[in-house]
Amino acid sequence: MSELRIEGLRVRVAGREILQGIDLVVRSGEVHAVMGPNGSGKSTLSHVLMGKPGYEVVAGSASLDGTDLLALPAWRRAQAGLFLAQQYPTEVPGVGLVDLLEEAFRASGRDASEVPALVRSEAARIGFGEQLLERAVNVDLSGGEKKRNETLQLGVLRPRFAILDELDSGLDVDALRACARRIEAATTEFDLGVLAITHYSRLLNELRPDVVHVLARGRIQATGGPELAAELERTGYAAYGEADHEDASGRRSPAGTGDPFADPLA
Ligand code: ADP
Ligand code: MG
Repeated sequence: MSELRIEGLRVRVAGREILQGIDLVVRSGEVHAVMGPNGSGKSTLSHVLMGKPGYEVVAGSASLDGTDLLALPAWRRAQAGLFLAQQYPTEVPGVGLVDLLEEAFRASGRDASEVPALVRSEAARIGFGEQLLERAVNVDLSGGEKKRNETLQLGVLRPRFAILDELDSGLDVDALRACARRIEAATTEFDLGVLAITHYSRLLNELRPDVVHVLARGRIQATGGPELAAELERTGYAAYGEADHEDASGRRSPAGTGDPFADPLA
């Protein structure tokens, strides 16, 4: 049993505190959904956990089985068992998918000779065309193909925890179902723990969350079961201050209207 533990995490980006105290514990085999409006800090959370530069941790901690993740470079976090499926997957010209995964296997002392067969079987599970396997990582792939590529890498690498940053964006219904099912299966096949960031509940029809959190205005505003995702689908985020966005001038639109064009002084 592994544990991804985030405590009191506060993160500043470009001089602004985006995350203002996040507490989350994900255990092996569990699926936690983090839902929230645009700009609430969901990607910031995924980036700071994986180690993207430019995010200043002001306070708090993030650990995997007691290992302090925040002290490690991104590649060490990956070796510790953390995986990130990016909202906007990075293109890596000149590097083939199989080469990348073989290198990852070697770097963590695993038998890289298994990689080509694993790649083929994972590709078949999610309907990722064989011809796409020949391309450089994410280069010349459509948005949906990139998301499937991320899912394929997850299946081959078998991390302990996966952060999925809007895996559903850009995927059509069939591809979404295939990817969500693959990841749901991973929670039992290799006891994967999942932090699934999304603002729609459709991903969660196949990838069944044990816990649903609402992230808004820098904090977890509510935590509940799958029924919370269904409720958000009906009500939106208004109850969590969704309308409380600053516009470019720093003014706030009137709470409750959700109308970005509303007169802020009305
Ligand atoms: P979400 O993924 O929930 O839509 P993000 O975490 O991407 O939100 O962004 C949260 C806020 O932080 C937004 O207001 C965004 O503009 C700001 N932000 C994120 N990254 C940066 C950055 N590198 N520089 C400046 N502002 C950023
Ligand atoms: Mg985002």
